[in-house]
Amino acid sequence: MKWSFRLFTIAGTEVRVHVTFLLLLLFVASQSYLSGQGLPAALESTLFITVMFGCVVLHEFGHVMAARGYGIRTPDITLLPIGGVARLERMPRKPSEELVVAISGPLVNVIIAAAIWLGFGISTAFHPGYDFIKTGGFLEKLMVWNIFMVAFNLIPAFPMDGGRVLRAFFAMFMEYGTATRRAASIGQGIAMMVAIYMLLNHTIHPMILLICFFIFMAAGQEAASVTQEEATRNLRVRDAMITDFRTLPPEATLRDGVELLLSGNQQDFPVLDTHGGMQGMLTRNDLISALAEKGPGHPVVDVMRSCPVSTLATIELTQALEILNASDCPALPVLDPIDGKLIGLLTTENIGEALMVRAALMKLRA
Ligand SMILES: [Zn+2]
Repeated sequence: MKWSFRLFTIAGTEVRVHVTFLLLLLFVASQSYLSGQGLPAALESTLFITVMFGCVVLHEFGHVMAARGYGIRTPDITLLPIGGVARLERMPRKPSEELVVAISGPLVNVIIAAAIWLGFGISTAFHPGYDFIKTGGFLEKLMVWNIFMVAFNLIPAFPMDGGRVLRAFFAMFMEYGTATRRAASIGQGIAMMVAIYMLLNHTIHPMILLICFFIFMAAGQEAASVTQEEATRNLRVRDAMITDFRTLPPEATLRDGVELLLSGNQQDFPVLDTHGGMQGMLTRNDLISALAEKGPGHPVVDVMRSCPVSTLATIELTQALEILNASDCPALPVLDPIDGKLIGLLTTENIGEALMVRAALMKLRA
């Protein structure tokens, strides 16, 4: 994340703090200092905020440790004013595993609250007039904070842990994508209901409204990213490659290339050897610039790019896309595994089209 600094690294996970979080600390300290309570009060409230976020870090490490149990690494955790964000390498796809990872964070806060309650005998009574800022001492506040974190994180909406618990629960009975979309719409429904309730009662808390908005957006994003992932999964090179294309023989000149370029909308032309094997690729840009320099009679074999990397029709599309992106050629040749002949071409535009078609078909089924 931009504008964040590394604090320390524990067990391979970097704990970072976002600059806005430091501003929050500064703001809290100056507030209590300026309110005339003096330096000790300013120090105490800054210390409390720091300890509060210590609990957030421990909560995130609950997720990190559970994920590690399933062999998933977490490169970093970033502290933001709204809480912590653990960036897991991936989320486990098995519902039971996701459930464990999601629940492990709030479980840490349950343990902290229980430890304060049992260890110090501190309890607190919640009543309508309860004021977190004014009521209770350091430990009582810390216990309340941890109880609040459990309650907040178990709201069944993305990006809260409760949303993941809900998705995992649905995924036990239905497909992962459908489960995600269902969990996301429930989260969006809750966010909308809370916002409407506030509007109807004329009691708008800007902070809660902001959280509702945030939940609404995040839920939509989660559903969209899973849908996108589903669209690429199981697609092979053969589902996206062009099979209808023109090629150039080894003795072709730039004039032949120009003729092909003008006769259709193909832009890059494979140059084949006499046995139909791939020799190289004449790209439109190379053709145009060579035409001006060398004239139309020049042989294409002099101008073409050698495309040493190729792929097979049975390779997964996402994997081929990576090869294509790393390659110097605008199109990836698809070769027959037996005789090495060119059977197709893969370009980023084809892949984009294949994904759009897939997404449209999935929408139809959903
Ligand atoms: Zn969490």
